[in-house]
Amino acid sequence: MSDTYARSNLAAIDAAHHLHPFSDMGKLNADGTRIIQRGEGVYIWDSQGKRYLDGFAGLWCVNVGYGRKEIADAVARQMNELPYYNTFFGTTTTPATLLAEKVTSHAGPHFNHVFFTGSGSEANDTWFRMARVYWSAVGKPSKKIVIARKNGYHGSTVAGASLGGMKYMHEQGDLPIPGIEHIGQPYWYGEGGELSPAEFGVKVARELEAKIDELGEENVSAFVAEPIQGAAGVIIPPATYWPEIARICKSRNILLVCDEVICGFGRLGEWFGHQYYGVEPDFAPIAKGLSSGYLPIGGVLVSDRIAHVLINEVGDFNHGFTYSGHPVCAAAALENLRIIEDEKLVERVRDDIGPYFGKVWGALGEHDLVGEAVSVGLMGALQLTTDKASRTRFEKPDAVGALVRNNALANGLVLRATGDRMLASPPLVITREEVDEMARIVKIALGAAWKELRN
Ligand SMILES: *Cc1c(COP(=O)(O)O)cnc(C)c1O
Repeated sequence: MSDTYARSNLAAIDAAHHLHPFSDMGKLNADGTRIIQRGEGVYIWDSQGKRYLDGFAGLWCVNVGYGRKEIADAVARQMNELPYYNTFFGTTTTPATLLAEKVTSHAGPHFNHVFFTGSGSEANDTWFRMARVYWSAVGKPSKKIVIARKNGYHGSTVAGASLGGMKYMHEQGDLPIPGIEHIGQPYWYGEGGELSPAEFGVKVARELEAKIDELGEENVSAFVAEPIQGAAGVIIPPATYWPEIARICKSRNILLVCDEVICGFGRLGEWFGHQYYGVEPDFAPIAKGLSSGYLPIGGVLVSDRIAHVLINEVGDFNHGFTYSGHPVCAAAALENLRIIEDEKLVERVRDDIGPYFGKVWGALGEHDLVGEAVSVGLMGALQLTTDKASRTRFEKPDAVGALVRNNALANGLVLRATGDRMLASPPLVITREEVDEMARIVKIALGAAWKELRN
């Protein structure tokens, strides 16, 4: 096995010099970081040579799996031909233009334009500005406030973290910035009380209407939400939720933004989450699965209604990133989308491996520790509980989630824990045998946790 950067003391170098995102750095430096060195299909290997099934596709992004030589080759070709040029001031590059055509061809018919960014966070910052520019251009400059949700995740830039509803993020750095309000999330298991999921879905959706009334419709720009909340714990809204949200946005003339950074590119068995839920957003930030994480690239799908005004009324939108439409990243994304198309990965998730995963994952709900086992496509969660019937939560949810996650890791499976929810989001190329292997390890991890918790 070749390791281009072989050094014997990487963990010590890392502890000395590398500040990590979303990690307790003191603890990390004491424990030592796991160094991942190689990937193939759904598997990754660490520097000890230990193999893991990556049940989380990196960070929800490696949709086509690891080790795709086609993408590496496309990147090398583009690197050799033109490693960089920008898309500012009247220029473009071939991959950027072709990617714009390709990516919009798979979204709803009202999406025909995309604005490229380097990441999902930048995508959210982009529509946030674009929405204000739009409302000003159509003579409604007071429409500025964005309504978002508690426990939403929209990235880590100042606007992204403010749009997000993560309390522990807001606590650092005086967020959210002004002009952003948060309403409740459609988390029936944790917050639905005695209501049925259907009743609860309508109830939390109507918080949007109440918030618009409180703020004044003339002051509200947009509502933003993930089709299914990812980082919050794969919170799948009741079926009544999205139709009610769509109705409210339409009747109140509020822009609807579906953050597709996770749900896009096949994860739910449709190209985009808005298609799965049958809604027509005005903006859809994208990233992650756009390139399967092989290179960083994101963007915002912009609906015809907005694009028409930007092109014909605004003209110059004074916004952009040096790497907007980066030709090498765009080449990686184009090849990634070609693979998704040619291998029919979206259809595969919808008709074959998604339903199979749903059955196997759903059966994990029989475990005593699991209150609900839910999934859509290849995005699933296990809610841990001390008592199924009463939906009682653990006193220390983070500790229980971490216990199950660490047990899974020790047995060769990467899962993520958000508090007391265990999350799965495997590459779309996962086979039935690999799904069975995931479930087998999850059972071992749950069993070991169960034993430990009873002692
Ligand atoms: C990951 C994520 C983002 C942020 O994307 P980055 O590329 O990390 O900036 C935004 N929205 C959602 C829903 C995400 O999951």
